[in-house]
This record gives sequence, C-alpha cells and structure tokens, in this order.
Amino acid sequence: MSRKLKEKAVHRLSSEKGTIIKRWGRKVTVALIYPNTYYVGMSNLGYQQVYYLLNQREDTICERVFLPDREDMDEYQRTGTPIFSLESQRLLREFDIIAFSIPFENDYLNALKILQMGNIPLLASISGGVTSFLNPEPMADFVDLFLIGEGEEVVNEFIDSFIKNNDAEKVELLSKLTKIEGVYVPSLYSVRYKTDGTIESFVQKGKASRKVKRRWIRDIDSAHTLSRIFTPETEFSGMHLVEISRGCGRGCRFCTAGFIYLPPRIRNPKSILDKIEPGLKNAEKVGLVSAAASDYPFINSLCAPLIAKGKKVSVSSLRMDSTTDELVDALKESGHKTMTFAPEAGTERLRNVINKGISEDDILKSVEMAISRGILNAKLYFLIGLPTETDEDIEGIVKLAKRIKKEVLALTKEAGRIGTITLSINPLIPKPWTPFQWSPMEDVKSLSNKLKYIKESLKKEGNIEVIHENPKDSYLQALLSRGDRRVGGIIRAALETGSWNRGIKESQVETDFYVYRMRGRDEIFPWDFIDHGIEKGYLWKEYERALKGQFTPPCNPPKCHRCGVC
Ligand code: SF4
Repeated sequence: MSRKLKEKAVHRLSSEKGTIIKRWGRKVTVALIYPNTYYVGMSNLGYQQVYYLLNQREDTICERVFLPDREDMDEYQRTGTPIFSLESQRLLREFDIIAFSIPFENDYLNALKILQMGNIPLLASISGGVTSFLNPEPMADFVDLFLIGEGEEVVNEFIDSFIKNNDAEKVELLSKLTKIEGVYVPSLYSVRYKTDGTIESFVQKGKASRKVKRRWIRDIDSAHTLSRIFTPETEFSGMHLVEISRGCGRGCRFCTAGFIYLPPRIRNPKSILDKIEPGLKNAEKVGLVSAAASDYPFINSLCAPLIAKGKKVSVSSLRMDSTTDELVDALKESGHKTMTFAPEAGTERLRNVINKGISEDDILKSVEMAISRGILNAKLYFLIGLPTETDEDIEGIVKLAKRIKKEVLALTKEAGRIGTITLSINPLIPKPWTPFQWSPMEDVKSLSNKLKYIKESLKKEGNIEVIHENPKDSYLQALLSRGDRRVGGIIRAALETGSWNRGIKESQVETDFYVYRMRGRDEIFPWDFIDHGIEKGYLWKEYERALKGQFTPPCNPPKCHRCGVC
C-alpha cells in the first residue's frame, strides 16, 4: 500500500470534526462507498446520515470509501494500491458488507471503477440512495441487494437481520433478507422481454414479494438529517447542513423528488434548532435543505434565531410564490449576492403543463423583491424539451429574460451597480415516477438548436449569461434512469473500454429505444416493481392533464387520498 496515500488519508481525518473511529472486533463491518470523490461525497447529507446511523449501533462499524482524487490516480496505478477505507485504511475485501449510496445515475460508472480498483468482483455489493428507489435496474447485474426507500427507516432492520442470518450461505442469506420490507434482491426476479423489446413479465422467485414497498418515515422528527462530520475539504465546507422538510406537495410534473418522497413532511423548528446546536461551533453558515425551503412554514422562526447567534443562513431552493421579505432579508444579511429561482418555462401555458403554477407577475415580483432588498443578481432555472413545447415557449424564455433585465435591473441602477441575470437551462429528462415517465426525451440535435437560438438571441444583452447542461450528458442520464437490466451491459462495457461512447458501441444496445421512445399507456416499466404508494393511474391522469395544460393544486395530507400514498 502506498505510504503517500495512507498519509493523505490520516491527514484528511485529522482535519475533520465529528469523525467516528471504532475499534475492530466482533462487529459487523460496513464499507460505505460514495461513488465520487471525498470533496463531493462529504457534502451529501444522505451519505452522512447512513454513516451516522450505522455507527450509532454498538454492533456495527461503518467506514467511508470514495473514488480517489484525480491527482492520486497515478499513485494508485504506480503502486498497485487497492482502494481502502478512510478511517482505518482497510481494504474492501476485509469488510462484511460493501454498501453504496448512489444519488446520481452518472456515478454508476464510478461505482464499478471503485469495485475494480478494490479488487472486488463486480457482483458483490448492496446499494441505497435515490437512484435505488427511482429505478435500480441498470445496476441490477452488479448489486446483490438494494434498500428501497429512506435509509433511516430500513438500515437497522437490515443490519439486525444480517447479524441474525450471517452464517447462512449467500443465496439463503439474500432470500432471508428479502423478508424485510424495502429490500430488493434482483437475482430473485426474472425479466422477460417481448419481441418489440418492451418488458413482457417481471416475475419473483422463492420468497421474494411481487412488489417491493418503498420505506419512508412517518414521524419525520424521529430522525434528524444533518451534517455529522465537518471538513474544510468539501463543496459546502464551513456549512452546517440540515434537512428542514422532506418531500414537496406541489406536484411539478417533471420533478422526481416531488413524487418519490411523498407525502410532504415538515420538521419542528425547535427540534431542528436543538439538534444542530452542538455542531454550530464547527460552521459559520447553516444550509437549510428542502425541496422548497420557502414553502417551509416556520422559515422565519428558524432563520431569526440563527442570525441572532451570528450565523449565516443559506437555502437550497426557493419558490417564487412563497418567498417572503423576511427570508430575503435573512439571506441578504447572510451575504447572499444571488437569488436563485426556478420558473422552469418561459410561458404561462407551459408552466401549467408542468404544473408549476407560477405567473409572470410572481417571477417579476420575486426578482424585484430580492433586488429592492439588496440582492442584485438573479439565477433562473429553465427546462427545455418539455412535452407540448413550441417555438413560442422558447421565445418566451428570451422575452422573459429581456423583460426582467429591462424592468428589474433598472432598479439596480439606483444601487449604482447593474446586477446580472444567469439563465441555467437544462434539457428535460423524463424521469421514472413522474407524470412525464411515458414521454420521450427530445432529440439532442433539436435541444442544441434551441440552446443556440436562446444564446444567440441574448448575446447582445449585457448582464445576461446563459449556462446549460450538454444535451449529450442529458441523453446519457436519460438512458441510465429509464433503462432496464440490459443497460447494465453498457455500464460494464464503458468500464472496460474507458468511455461511455465506446461502451455504448461495444454493447450494441439500442439506446434510443430507452431515450427517444414514447412509452405505451399500459407498458410494464423496469421500475414498476417498486411500490411507492403512488398509483400508476394517477401519474397517467396527471400526464393527460399536462397535455391539456390543466393545473393540479398542491397536495394536502392527510385529508387527501388522490395519489394513493396517504
Ligand atoms: S394522497 Fe394526496 S396528500 Fe397524500 S401524498 Fe398523495 S396527493 Fe399528497
């Protein structure tokens, strides 16, 4: 093992606060892998939460493993050092359980790279994280078992059963573990395909259940999700992240978080403040994490005491129809220079199609409110390639940007400095578990033309910047999120050939079949075996309402039963 790499790990540990180091012995040992670098992984709350939960147990040791930093790759290759854990620098094969927390599909390749660099066969791990309860099938070939749902609700049951059945042979152990609600063992299901390539049947074997129920927390104040380890080497360094609510009831028809975390659940502000109190000494800023922080009803009574303590606050996202003056003031006082909003579409018609329910007035008022309170820059998120989108809707983005510039930026002149508007434009990826799951993604060429048109139309407008995802990357993400088990062959080929493009060629899988094809009303989807509580018929109805531009009001738990979750 490279001494240099080992010393770097020890140094990294020494710069952390909150690390949990345990003595090895008669305990279950879990290598918890984040399929990206330390810098990225340590800002992921879900990952920190699972690490913390496992280490709360007397009978378990959980250690972290990351993709090596780019600058260390040569040292790994030169010395032939296998990947090792951070806490005790042990090799992956020394652990009882190799567990992944995978939030993004594009990290699938990293996950296999880590197994390969750890000298672990590509089929010996368990996985959790958002991608698992969206559509785990592209990774089914490489994972023994998926935990479907919110980690807080299922990890302890899983470890209890693992300890109880640990002496069984692997096949028998996996079969016993499927008794836990939320456990999905791909090898206990067989998939048959029709000649047209769609799924004919998805059949369980042995004791496996027909559907795998998503696990979610009913009492959200029973498990707080917050930063546990503080390190200077991460994206949100110096920030104490805390989840203030989970899920969102707005029902935006492109948004997975709006469906797979239903019903929306709100945490009690006092319990949040109590929970983050011990960690506040390690951070100057508190990051309030939520699908729509401005919808959190106690946002002001959360920000005020934190600011009174001399802390700064930051929020993950804001809705233009629920952002208050007080919240903007709190962000201004916390040094925010840019307000981020998500109108998503350039016309009212298309905003109704996606069920955003935001008027042009809401957009102008909230940017104006921010500027009049001293936050001079605005970042606006837009989606292109939406169902029913027309050239007029694309023109609508250009017109809206120009109108904001003309009407609102004029205000900044009084402040003696012109603010900037940044448009962040992303292609729609019609994701599983949304009403758009039937819809194809728009062609990469057409998306590129639309981006070119928007940039051309705004290039002479000073103080307006356009940034965007590369539609080719979105194509890949669509493939990995809408694919079935056969897409696993592409991921393996990409690992072996070193690139996605060569992997796709080598695998000979028809990728447009997954990305560009309109799906049948009653087609079996690769992810249909997951039971989120949401009726498929409800999502179809929402799709039909989208095509008619009909708005659906926010959900209202627990009185409402419309989608089937409550
Ligand atoms: S049943 Fe109603 S309240 Fe419950 S999650 Fe569904 S839409 Fe929301």
